[in-house]
Amino acid sequence: METQHGRMRRRDFLKACVAAAGFSAVQPSSRAAASAEGARQAAGTADQIGEDAMDKTVLSFFCDDTSAHRGPPDTFGRFLDFVKSEGIAGESSVIIGLGSSLLSEPDSDAERIYIEHLHRAFECGIDAHMEVMTHGGKFDFKERRFRRGAIHEGLWMHEPDVPVEEYEAYFDAIIAEGEKIGVRFTGLTWPGGGGPETARRYAELRKLGITNLSPNCWQALLNLAKRGRFRGPTVPCFVRARNEVGLMAADGAYGVYDIPVIGQDWLGRWDNSPNRVNPDYYITADGQGGHIAEWVRAGRPYCFFHAHWQGLNPANGVGWEAFTLVVQRIKEHLGDRVVWMRPSQFTDYWHGRQRGGRNA
Ligand SMILES: [Zn+2]
Repeated sequence: METQHGRMRRRDFLKACVAAAGFSAVQPSSRAAASAEGARQAAGTADQIGEDAMDKTVLSFFCDDTSAHRGPPDTFGRFLDFVKSEGIAGESSVIIGLGSSLLSEPDSDAERIYIEHLHRAFECGIDAHMEVMTHGGKFDFKERRFRRGAIHEGLWMHEPDVPVEEYEAYFDAIIAEGEKIGVRFTGLTWPGGGGPETARRYAELRKLGITNLSPNCWQALLNLAKRGRFRGPTVPCFVRARNEVGLMAADGAYGVYDIPVIGQDWLGRWDNSPNRVNPDYYITADGQGGHIAEWVRAGRPYCFFHAHWQGLNPANGVGWEAFTLVVQRIKEHLGDRVVWMRPSQFTDYWHGRQRGGRNA
């Protein structure tokens, strides 16, 4: 995907971030309390980074398909404990309507305990993305039910004729479901899959030149950010971006971003396959090779990787050990060259830099 941004040196990027955090902390908009909160977080991180950390690469990750039903009820809690104790940061999907039941109407201990852990996720360093409501067919909010044969949410977000208002109402309803269980969403992840019918329509759209979410969909996300419906003023998304961060919609202090990840998931993937586990893909034992090591040594300002809960989870995920190994290797070999951030922390920074640049 083409993006509006050229490549930027880490030093320039982080300098701009620190400046922008100060800038956004005094911005007059009091319309959304979320903005002020986002600005405070950005300012806080800027203080922590400080002048001596200007040469660092921002490091983060997305974890898709997270659910309450992989391993014992404390599984997500164990993941959070690890993230917190290592001082790393990333994102984990919260899919309210995964598997034909509603997390907002919890009916098992597994769900109730998962929700309790979700309440401390943000403080532990983990953002919450909606991987939309069901990760499957569009949910019927009016009748509060799953509809057989409903269009796949991932495809629906690509359809060019859906108006902004329809997207906005749907995402708003998901945010409201999150509020019922005390979850505040920071961003959105596009759910893949959907079966042969969906694949056929994707192919049709590709022929029409449509390979990304509809502009109306991005606009709806921006409108929700402006209404303070996301946790912060900027909304990180994990959709289609390659190599460079893409600004998909913006208005003043608010921005919606598509974030690229390095390569593929070699931490067990969605099929929790032992053939898909390779810590060296990220960083080799000597710290010299692997995608993360290469990106950091190339002086890239940011580096995101992604995983799936099926393979990553600490109970039965075949990639969990590799994940912890990657984190240890990063600490050992790149510790003074990286700074971990939640994706929404990163987009607050990135957006601040743009505004700083535009106003300079
Ligand atoms: Zn997924």
